[in-house]
Amino acid sequence: MATKFELSELIRTGHFIDGQWVASANGKRFDVTNPATGEVIATIADGGEADARAATDAAARAFPAWRDALPKERAAVLHRWHALMLENADALGHLISLEQGKPFAEGRGEVLYGASYVAWFADEATRIYGDLIPQQQRGKRMSAVKEPIGIVAAITPWNFPLAMIARKIAPALAAGCTVVGKPAEDTPLTALALVMLAHEAGVPPGVLNLIAASRESAVPAVAAWLHDSRVRKITFTGSTPVGKYLARESADTLKKLSLELGGNAPFIVFDDADLEAAVSGLLVSKFRNGGQTCVCPNRVYVQSSVYERFGDMLARRVAALKVAPATDPDAQIGPMINARAVEKIARHVDDAVSKGARVLAGGKRLTALGPNYYAPTVLADATGAMQLSCEETFGPVVPLFRFDDETQAIQAANDTPFGLAAYFYSQNVRRIDRVARQLEAGIVGINEGALASEAAPFGGVKESGYGREGSKYGLDDYLSIKYLCQGGLE
Ligand code: ADP
Repeated sequence: MATKFELSELIRTGHFIDGQWVASANGKRFDVTNPATGEVIATIADGGEADARAATDAAARAFPAWRDALPKERAAVLHRWHALMLENADALGHLISLEQGKPFAEGRGEVLYGASYVAWFADEATRIYGDLIPQQQRGKRMSAVKEPIGIVAAITPWNFPLAMIARKIAPALAAGCTVVGKPAEDTPLTALALVMLAHEAGVPPGVLNLIAASRESAVPAVAAWLHDSRVRKITFTGSTPVGKYLARESADTLKKLSLELGGNAPFIVFDDADLEAAVSGLLVSKFRNGGQTCVCPNRVYVQSSVYERFGDMLARRVAALKVAPATDPDAQIGPMINARAVEKIARHVDDAVSKGARVLAGGKRLTALGPNYYAPTVLADATGAMQLSCEETFGPVVPLFRFDDETQAIQAANDTPFGLAAYFYSQNVRRIDRVARQLEAGIVGINEGALASEAAPFGGVKESGYGREGSKYGLDDYLSIKYLCQGGLE
């Protein structure tokens, strides 16, 4: 069996349903384009309601056998899938760059990152323990066991075309659930390649089904899952409005939900911080994927006494970032995902400048490179009146806000409906403890900008959603607890 594939062999143009590559029931297709050039990479099946239902039918048929497989059998399949991802890391990395635009080094890095969840949950599959409850009455034995929740629908965004879907499929399969999935319309090819490798790894037909869909077709396709009582769980990463819509629409069948939604991450630099470290941490957290991640700092608060110095240090480093297509080996920032994304970034920067922000670096489109490029930007004198203070910019823009004391910084940081990630830099141990406790966020970086790890619980509070991905907690979202009470034992 060939296990290492060329990029061209990884490009699939059909849906994957019941172990087969199939066209849409209605014959529709749509184009997937390269954001760096606008060129069409592939024309693929555009799934609708009938395809979604066929996927659910297959997942329902496959569920009993997969649920009853031994945990170590499920683990073995996941370990093989992990090995295939690593073996094909270069080709997958190129595919990510091609359809999403991030530099190849980041694309390849994403493959390793996504694969780490598969390995993690392969191991976790064998550690799904229950409890024997200490005896309460004579003649009765009470216990709690964990069971797979059933069919899981996974819906993912474009910014991490591989990692986002891998970290949903892996725990679902580990738990014994079967999956129907839909990747984002901008980046479906990586997800299709991933399920092809899962099939090669021995995931049985019907256990993992994936349909691709354009934006218009996604609505009826996903609605078919939302209204189908056989689908017991929705796991979604994407925008807050769509997350709320999914929660509302699945209320009639009372599905369990995991929602990883938008953020508006604060990044606080106190005057007792190591400023060099803070600049480096900000670069790592802000400019990964060109600023297009939900944990990217969106608002940077800097204490007055170090404000100008920090701004200068940061602007120098940001101006030196290399913006180029993913094919350039030196590229640090690629194109934004689409025209809509660049327009939002330009609107936020223009609005800030019109309200008094000073441009320390960037501040403009890079049209010579292509239509979707925007220069990495640092803006000083940002205020709460600017759009970028309350909306996620999702691009390479750092607005610097000024604050005088700790209380003010915490208040400003928490003044948002969102609560995914928050970061702060300080070398004062008492302050570290105080601030970490008071920040309203699911994830807090303390003197650290790189937080992602398969061993850590990833997820938000407030309107950033609920549920956790990764870590020993990540399987719980895919399990339900059954209480067994056995009598007549006296
Ligand atoms: P983004 O703004 O990052 O594109 P979205 O929340 O719009 O985030 O999209 C995330 C995922 O949700 C994508 O797979 C997209 O196709 C899907 N999606 C968006 N709107 C809907 C909808 N109304 N019904 C079902 N899926 C949707």
